[in-house]
Amino acid sequence: MSDKNKIRVRFAPSPTGPLHIGGVRTALYNYLFAKHNGGTFILRIEDTDQTRYIEGAEKYIIESLEWCGIKCDEGPHVGGNYGPYRQSERKDTYRVHAENLVAKGHAYYAFDTPEELEAMRERLKGQGVPSPQYNHLSREYMRNSLTLSADETQKLIADGTPYVIRIKMPRNEEVKFEDVIRSWIVFQTNQLDDKVLYKSDGMPTYHLANVVDDYNMEISHVIRGEEWLPSAPLHVMLYKYLGWEDKMPRFAHVPLILRPDGKGKLSKRDGDKLGVPVFPLDWEDPTSKEKAMGFREQGYLKESFLNILLFLGWNPGTEKEIYQLDEMIQDFSLERVGKAGAKFDVDKAKWFNQQHLKIKSNEDLLELVKPYLNDTIKQKPEQFLLKFIELMKERATSPQDFYESGKYFFGLPESYDEKMIAKKWNDKTEVFFKELLDQLSSSAMFDATQFENQLKVLMDKQQMKMGEVLPVLRIMLSGTMQGPPVFELAELLGKEVVEERIKHAIVSFPALIN
Ligand code: GLU
Repeated sequence: MSDKNKIRVRFAPSPTGPLHIGGVRTALYNYLFAKHNGGTFILRIEDTDQTRYIEGAEKYIIESLEWCGIKCDEGPHVGGNYGPYRQSERKDTYRVHAENLVAKGHAYYAFDTPEELEAMRERLKGQGVPSPQYNHLSREYMRNSLTLSADETQKLIADGTPYVIRIKMPRNEEVKFEDVIRSWIVFQTNQLDDKVLYKSDGMPTYHLANVVDDYNMEISHVIRGEEWLPSAPLHVMLYKYLGWEDKMPRFAHVPLILRPDGKGKLSKRDGDKLGVPVFPLDWEDPTSKEKAMGFREQGYLKESFLNILLFLGWNPGTEKEIYQLDEMIQDFSLERVGKAGAKFDVDKAKWFNQQHLKIKSNEDLLELVKPYLNDTIKQKPEQFLLKFIELMKERATSPQDFYESGKYFFGLPESYDEKMIAKKWNDKTEVFFKELLDQLSSSAMFDATQFENQLKVLMDKQQMKMGEVLPVLRIMLSGTMQGPPVFELAELLGKEVVEERIKHAIVSFPALIN
């Protein structure tokens, strides 16, 4: 493909429920590949399987892509020159191709009832075939246009007997294609079954619709999950039989996203156990009302979410780990996508979120944190809130974490680290802090440096060490040992609040030591 503008890729989810992160990762890789090459990224909704259709799933897919900043150049919600972009609305385009295949002898009508199909499976199982298939052998014994005469076939059709159209897999042939990620893939046709292409409900199956649409939409590269690799030889055969071989897209099958222990695909159940989402956004099943959590609602920034997905299967071959979307576009290539399954690492995911939080400006972060602050707090001076953000941003793991872990910026600590108090609180420290209170009440100036110096002078005088005083001060002000530099916290709280908290602590601590 020399003309780069001809790069056209599609993300083709089926609206059968919430979009798994594996799906978003596929969308991301398609998008990055398209944008890196100045191409077009298309969203196509594959909704031919009416039995699996779930209300709201398409909306969820679109909202997910919009949230993380994957913009569609064409799609059901934005239009385009190759529409419609929902397969259910393209229904009329498929039948002619299925009939065409029958006419050319590459497909056939099959009239078998569910009972007859079941009987075939039972019979083959009885003969020791572990997974019976409708294939180049069994089709000889079934009710189809290969075993029936032309007249019989015509009569059945004219009588309105339900039928499907199946591909006629050739015997003893080899199907080969070059996958961008996996190199040459070879399949033997004898191992492939005669998949249904067109169903009795007048709808194509995934295989036919997918190939016809990719052809009609002039798709140049099919980038999709590894779970579709077994379907690829059938698709290659269809391109050949439909006479579209020279327009066949290049295939790239991206690796699965695995559980942290590498044992199997990451499922919703695994996510629940690990306390991480496996979906981009919250989802509630319209019938069962079962809920699933999303990265967005769990406090992951869209930047972190994309960065996490980027590294589940791809790496730049350098030390660089933190990526913004424009940098991803710049560096991405399919050649650097690995073959092996990508293990989901929970700690790494959290780390990415922290890194992306840290590089945001205090102003931007405040906007992200505001939804989690109550009205009284929101009315505090902007300068105070920005300083709060600055002091917390080194440690916070999500926008909600700022307030969750930093409530003490806005009121007395809700609890104190009792273990630490038991270790550090004694008569000497009590005397020290009482004297500090005396000094504070008479000092006019109060800022981080001045307070620190004041404390040090007093420590010298009373012959006390940092380790005896600082942890106690920290707990007095915040209740916990984790937190921002204590003198800066003190400066932001202001002298009155610091005095009030020290007093409160002196009264409360003895009761906490048993
Ligand atoms: N509809 C398929 C899916 O749900 C698309 C597979 C493909 O990209 O060919 O993933």
